Amino acid sequence: MTDRRRAIALATRGFMPAEEGEALWDAAVSASAAVPDAALVEIGSYCGRSTVWLGDAAERSGRTLFAIDHHRGSEENQAGWEHHDPDVVDERTGRMDTLPFLRRTVHEAGLEETVVAVVGASPTVARHWRAPSALVFVDGGHGEEPARLDYAGWAPHVALDGTLAIHDVFPDPADGGRPPYEQVYLPALESGEFEETSATGSLRVLRRVRPPVTPT
Ligand code: MG
Repeated sequence: MTDRRRAIALATRGFMPAEEGEALWDAAVSASAAVPDAALVEIGSYCGRSTVWLGDAAERSGRTLFAIDHHRGSEENQAGWEHHDPDVVDERTGRMDTLPFLRRTVHEAGLEETVVAVVGASPTVARHWRAPSALVFVDGGHGEEPARLDYAGWAPHVALDGTLAIHDVFPDPADGGRPPYEQVYLPALESGEFEETSATGSLRVLRRVRPPVTPT
């Protein structure tokens, strides 16, 4: 990735440490090489910080990145919660709206040809999704129910040899919240359909080694 794009990623609001962003980029490049012609999917784009790393990898591979988010903020982003940022609240509606931030980030990074923003609830999009994906990056709502639904909705869309990447996986409860670990990471490994290929900080990269029980 160019220094300019890296600087844009690092200047964008969000929760992706640089080292994990680089690991995500590596995973996306490898996943694209492993699964010809398939798109990449990001669940939970927020203001587009990780979208830059994924978008750059997608562009390099001639792929499209679908960046899915309702842009109203996850539970943990709402007022009164730990990860709230009042600057992303739309004054007119009083609700969070990170879509303008995402669009600005994608524009500044020069990735508008590569990144397609999908605005809506992840389970709704997942239900109608029909394309096996080279990579699905799960970084949506970090509560138990959203994490469970993201696994149920999106894991089946990871193509054989494709990648399921998961953010905020904390095996030790002292390090962070449980749902990405308990509702996404563990079920993926226990299904026998995925094998872990790398771990960087709280990022886990898994490869699909068996077809989904319920194919898309
Ligand atoms: Mg995250």
